[in-house]
Amino acid sequence: MAKVTVIGAGNVGATAAQRLLETGLCDVVLLDIVEGLPQGKALDMAHSAYILGLTNRCVGTNDYQDTAGSDVVVITSGAARKPGMTRDQLVEINAAIVGEVAEKAAAVSPEAVLLVVTNPVDVMTWLAIKKSGFSRQRVIGLSGVLDSSRLAYLISKQINVPVTDVNAYVWGEHGQQMVVFPRLNTVKGVPITKMLAEEVISGLIAQTVASGAEVVNLLKTSSAYYAPSAAIVRMASAIIENSGEILPSAVCLDGEYGLYDVVCGVPVKLGEKGVQSIVKIDLSDDEQKLLAKSAESIKKMIANIPSG
Ligand code: NAD
Repeated sequence: MAKVTVIGAGNVGATAAQRLLETGLCDVVLLDIVEGLPQGKALDMAHSAYILGLTNRCVGTNDYQDTAGSDVVVITSGAARKPGMTRDQLVEINAAIVGEVAEKAAAVSPEAVLLVVTNPVDVMTWLAIKKSGFSRQRVIGLSGVLDSSRLAYLISKQINVPVTDVNAYVWGEHGQQMVVFPRLNTVKGVPITKMLAEEVISGLIAQTVASGAEVVNLLKTSSAYYAPSAAIVRMASAIIENSGEILPSAVCLDGEYGLYDVVCGVPVKLGEKGVQSIVKIDLSDDEQKLLAKSAESIKKMIANIPSG
């Protein structure tokens, strides 16, 4: 049975732990710095195993030794946005947390794949690579799976088709500079550019960029966690099952798409060792410029992180 550790037992982490447990694919360890929080939530989840017919286990802890030998470590620890905040404003506080967590988790699970969720996720993924000492193949950020799901939801509503008929792909930064190439988004194989006017598509893209803030503004005291935790399970499952599924993911680029030493969302083939390969799609000059602009904004944030 695979072992998945989730660090941070807050909204995203605990919901991801529950969803992971319910896949039946892995044992789950939930870790937080707050005493009792991960233990209480994990015990509550363990109490559901009989009802749900699950034999995999869930434990809560404050001790990294209990996470030793994990196949996947999901990092959700850190502050979330409040209304009016951008993800970039979390950089200072979350860099200290993610840096420490990546070091400690990597020390006891040297073969793990790190799945970074804490925002700003592109920057935190870059930092986790440095702090863990892991290769860039084994540290992956969650961005495009969530953003694409939000875009797919909006496309399905606009065209009035089941969301499962939509194939959506969001690239670039998980933030204001996220990138959508309209021609690569399809409904049953038909590009949305053949079905929707340019200004309608631009509106859907703008709504996708604002989706996270829309949830924050409604919830007021927390940010989104149902869709983010579903995205965690989709990515973690691809890794555990060595599926080779192509999912948009934030990975460190080393020449791919002409970009170097920057973590940015691109299509990635995922497997048990993390990144199997970065998928190369021919981009037009304009598309390439958009991606480079997005990567540039991430690079600026990386240059500003306290230990960056
Ligand atoms: P939350 O406040 O509910 O939970 C964060 C948890 O982290 C808390 O339980 C806290 O005690 C714990 N924590 C803090 N420092 C720690 C440390 N050093 N070690 C272990 N645990 C520690 O926040 P949330 O809503 O769960 O969001 C978590 C993070 O995920 C935020 O940064 C948020 O912006 C981000 N997020 C990212 C995406 C994405 O697509 N990448 C989506 C949603 C949320």
